[in-house]
Amino acid sequence: MRKPFIAANWKMNTNSKSAVELATGVVKAVDGIDNVDVAACPPFVYLQSVIEAVGSDSKLAIGAQDIFYEGNGAFTGEISAEMLTDLKVKYVITGHSERRHVIGESDELINKKTHAALDAGLLPILCVGELLEERESGKTNEVVSDQVKKGLAGFTADQALKITIAYEPVWAIGTGKTATSAQAQEVHAMIRELLAQMYDAQTADQMIIQYGGSAKPENTKELMSCADVDGLLVGGAGLKADSFGEMIKITSELYASL
Ligand code: PEP
Repeated sequence: MRKPFIAANWKMNTNSKSAVELATGVVKAVDGIDNVDVAACPPFVYLQSVIEAVGSDSKLAIGAQDIFYEGNGAFTGEISAEMLTDLKVKYVITGHSERRHVIGESDELINKKTHAALDAGLLPILCVGELLEERESGKTNEVVSDQVKKGLAGFTADQALKITIAYEPVWAIGTGKTATSAQAQEVHAMIRELLAQMYDAQTADQMIIQYGGSAKPENTKELMSCADVDGLLVGGAGLKADSFGEMIKITSELYASL
């Protein structure tokens, strides 16, 4: 059985005080839960204070929301994988839909970032997902497959095992519209089948595929009950320690009963 993995993406939210309060609140909320991997991804500027507050070996692992693919040099405004490992950051999100569609990142850039992350020892969370018009025109599988293939280009099966895929239908992110569990399961199963073709059945069976898009305590059990949904990437509901903690508790209880 795959170990579930629930991560919060704080996006451009919190401040120096509330970031530490939120992180320590989550640590308290997940105390005693060992059957779920948990992470939070604060803004870059609060990574250090959050890591210092929770401890680098805390059950709450810390991730960054993005990186640049070069190690150092004249890249104004960018943050390298080495800078993140220096702070003991564990995970990094690559290809989030807001970076794809607001900032304009390409699959090629996302792939370079994902390689830089893994090469430096970070664990990437590679996000993929279709726009509303792509879903409505029946292109979901085509778009998502293309993003998975391009995002994972050049990775071996052993490397792929360290990468979490987050399927996040763009129309469900921050909109309050969650994909139904059937819609999520259909795409997750398609991604796992694709991973089996790209690598092998055993690798595909072990890889973690998160769902993201208006996930909250009320829909956690239904989403996490899907055979191929192994975790959640959470935006809005991850900004409150009690709601995020509740999602982790629900998942923990569900998995304990399987
Ligand atoms: C996200 O940004 O990855 C996300 C899923 O956001 P929300 O949960 O707010 O839809």
